[in-house]
Amino acid sequence: MRAVSAVPEERPLTLVTLPPSRTQRRLALGVVLASLIAFSIVAGPLSTFQLPRIDAFVPCYGTAIVVNDLITAVLLLNQSAISRSRATLAVASAYLFAGLMVIPWLLTFPGVFAPGGLLGAGLQSTAWLSVLRYFGFPAFIIGYALLKDADPPRGSWEGSVGATILSHVAMSTAIVCIATVLVIASDAYLPAIAIDRVHFSTFWRYLASCLIVWCAVAITLLWFRRLSVLDLWLMVALCAYAIEIYLSAFVGPARFSAAWIAARIFGFVSSILVLSVLLHEITTLYTQLLRAVLAHRREREARLLTGDTVSASIAHEIKQPLTAIAASAKAGLNWLDRVDPDPNVDRARDALRRVEAAGQSADAVIENIRAHFKVGARTHASLDIDDVIQGALAAVRDRLRIHRVAVRADLHGLLPRITGERIQLQQVLVNLMTNAIDAMAMTNGERVLFISSEVRDSGYVMVSVEDTGNGIATDAVDRIFNPMFTTKPDGMGMGLSICRSIIEAHHGRLWVTPNHGRGAMFHFTVPIASGSAC
Ligand code: ADP
Repeated sequence: MRAVSAVPEERPLTLVTLPPSRTQRRLALGVVLASLIAFSIVAGPLSTFQLPRIDAFVPCYGTAIVVNDLITAVLLLNQSAISRSRATLAVASAYLFAGLMVIPWLLTFPGVFAPGGLLGAGLQSTAWLSVLRYFGFPAFIIGYALLKDADPPRGSWEGSVGATILSHVAMSTAIVCIATVLVIASDAYLPAIAIDRVHFSTFWRYLASCLIVWCAVAITLLWFRRLSVLDLWLMVALCAYAIEIYLSAFVGPARFSAAWIAARIFGFVSSILVLSVLLHEITTLYTQLLRAVLAHRREREARLLTGDTVSASIAHEIKQPLTAIAASAKAGLNWLDRVDPDPNVDRARDALRRVEAAGQSADAVIENIRAHFKVGARTHASLDIDDVIQGALAAVRDRLRIHRVAVRADLHGLLPRITGERIQLQQVLVNLMTNAIDAMAMTNGERVLFISSEVRDSGYVMVSVEDTGNGIATDAVDRIFNPMFTTKPDGMGMGLSICRSIIEAHHGRLWVTPNHGRGAMFHFTVPIASGSAC
């Protein structure tokens, strides 16, 4: 049998690795379309509209952006502490940088805290700080996209979580401080973006075109490497950035024009959108985690209970004959060891007969217990295997939903009936499906559980359970059916071995093959009931 690939790696379920659902993709597309409609309205009918200057607008806008971006950065830093991924650190730094850059922009903005701005700002300072922000954010995102696919040793960081995060916070703060000092100090030498405190020069248009291309580069990189919820919403945020830059450079190149205000509103909406998506996803993950933990605990308790019950009943049944064997053997020895009068061989023989009888009764008890777990001892019924598959799918429905696994069932529909034990066959299917879901939960990309049923020439019905997980490692393929073999931290390694004994008791076969592409394919056969036809 060929190797199937690697055993599912333990990868933390974070926003960086979580694939977006179809609804999220649609929502993101909807937001981009709505932005484009709003953009065309602002760039068309409203382009010549000039609003009166509202002094409170800039500080309100600036404060909201700082708060949003910094909260987003904190959430992302937490995610990076869980996954220890350099890529997540890069995107957290992007938000940290974008949020912190707004502070000097706000302080130097003419007319907010002082007529010419604070910190000794010149005419160009505010505009150039804005340009650096527009350049820096996509630059960090490009870094994130490039780091994302790095192999694990390059892609993850080691060492103390606190120290790494602190050093990144310090680095971002230092970059912002240095950028501010340099911009303010070289104000007189910088190419002019602002003609006066309100209007922008044509040079701003050239610069804006470059910045829009820069955003497009980041979007393209994310597009080709997109895998996760975070990537999707970063693309949306970058689209909003590009629209914001275009509006303030080409549609209303003057502060407080309708287009300039609309551009600020675009920036705000994009930053609050990413933040809300992050919060929503984190809450959803938390709820799913809680449900999964509770379900797992219940499952474990049930398994322990079954194990306890079986072992207690075996102990109880077997104890009596064993005590009888020990007592009779002791009595037999006493009769043989007697010195005065002579050893009583007849009595010793009787005792040995009792040992034999007790031994037989222990054997019968064991046979009884085995028979209890055998198919033959239970009610055999004529079954439609597709019904059993539907029952198993219903049993794992919650798990499928939690892990966002799509199901494709290719059921024959007119299969001949089989004879078997419904509950046991369902147990086999639930086990195979649960393993498949577990394997896919650890992977990125498409998660599809494929179930099919068909008739085999040899008088058997074959059921296949396929997944798109990471598959089974070469060295594990021969061992997965062994009792107690597991690669899961909380696994018992009994599932597949019980499945195989159930299928063999049904006179069928259970085996695994590699899936085409990736993942694993488990198949089992059960004989068609005599007299049943298609
Ligand atoms: P458990 O699930 O309790 O660990 P099982 O007998 O069900 O025990 O499975 C044994 C091992 O077989 C699993 O730990 C896993 O490594 C491997 N395995 C089973 N099914 C799959 C699958 N669909 N994809 C990848 N590995 C699998």
